[in-house]
Amino acid sequence: MSDKTKVLVTGAGGFIGSHLVTFLREKGYWVRGVDIKYPEFGASDADEFKLLDLRRWENCLSATDGIDEVYALAADMGGMGFISSHHAQILYNNSLINLHTLDAARENGAKRYLYTSSACVYPEFLQEDTNVTPLKEEDAYPAMPQDAYGWEKLVSERLCLHYHEDYGMETRTVRFHNIFGEKGTWEGGREKAPAAMCRKVATAKLTGDPVVEIWGDGEQTRSFCYISDCVEGIYRLMRSDFREPLNLGQDRMVSINQLADIVAEIAGISIDKKHIDGPQGVRGRNSDNTKLREVLGWEPSVSLEEGLAITYRWIEQQVSESYANSESTASA
Ligand code: NAD
Repeated sequence: MSDKTKVLVTGAGGFIGSHLVTFLREKGYWVRGVDIKYPEFGASDADEFKLLDLRRWENCLSATDGIDEVYALAADMGGMGFISSHHAQILYNNSLINLHTLDAARENGAKRYLYTSSACVYPEFLQEDTNVTPLKEEDAYPAMPQDAYGWEKLVSERLCLHYHEDYGMETRTVRFHNIFGEKGTWEGGREKAPAAMCRKVATAKLTGDPVVEIWGDGEQTRSFCYISDCVEGIYRLMRSDFREPLNLGQDRMVSINQLADIVAEIAGISIDKKHIDGPQGVRGRNSDNTKLREVLGWEPSVSLEEGLAITYRWIEQQVSESYANSESTASA
């Protein structure tokens, strides 16, 4: 190892983790990536990549060995379809990952630790309307997250606060609001709404069948934040002295129907939206970025249209390749 600051990115085989590894390498850090899988869409830029199951304490000790700063992103997660149907698995796996990673980092003397939480910690009763009031950090209490995924995030947030109070560890906690971009899961059941929408529209374009299925009436609302803003925000928070949870997202809210229209326009096609039964999550959600601006003097700036244009082009290419492969297999 060199004398550069040594950072660990857990979940480095995943969507945000793989982008963060590249970003941190470009900033001049020595980076160790850890995951149970290698990145699916291209080699990792990490100086060292270890395949480790972080539910196990001894693996967490090995992952954090010699590390100065930890970015903890590993999680068993996916979009609404996955989160709303795997409560026990998510709560069990993510609790083990986060309990062990944080404590192993303390044991190995890591100086800073950033935990990646989620807007899913916010109470369901504040998100029952499509025209929802943007969520401030303090709205997380009294607590009533919708899913086990959010409950675990809330407990791990508290763990970070207590590790600072009791052990003096410098901990940071970020609450992401729907991060999207290229090189993220786009099929298979764990994909999130923007990737799923890009895949459906790309498939409609390729096949000429304009029907695009949308879960529910499509009027549920969200804000979406592009990946380059996400990694910049994570880094800025790590470098700050702010130890409380902080929102990281865009504060422009759109409905899922509007999201579909934007993607269709980027693709240059007309679509027929077909509303079907499916998990929708909360009715409305948006980020209040007042504290983000105060603390970091910065906020995400890539527009939804700009971010989706890049994401769509990448997913369209994945869909075309997968379609071509299945055609050639069928004709072989
Ligand atoms: P992702 O699923 O692409 O990445 C998570 C990675 O963790 C995966 O590569 C997975 O293999 C790995 N992992 C799972 N179990 C593991 C284990 N036992 N040991 C080691 N690695 C394990 O998800 P992402 O979108 O990159 O999310 C990164 C973090 O941000 C997660 O903690 C997630 O909960 C949080 N988050 C993401 C979003 C979003 O919109 N993407 C929103 C809120 C919070």
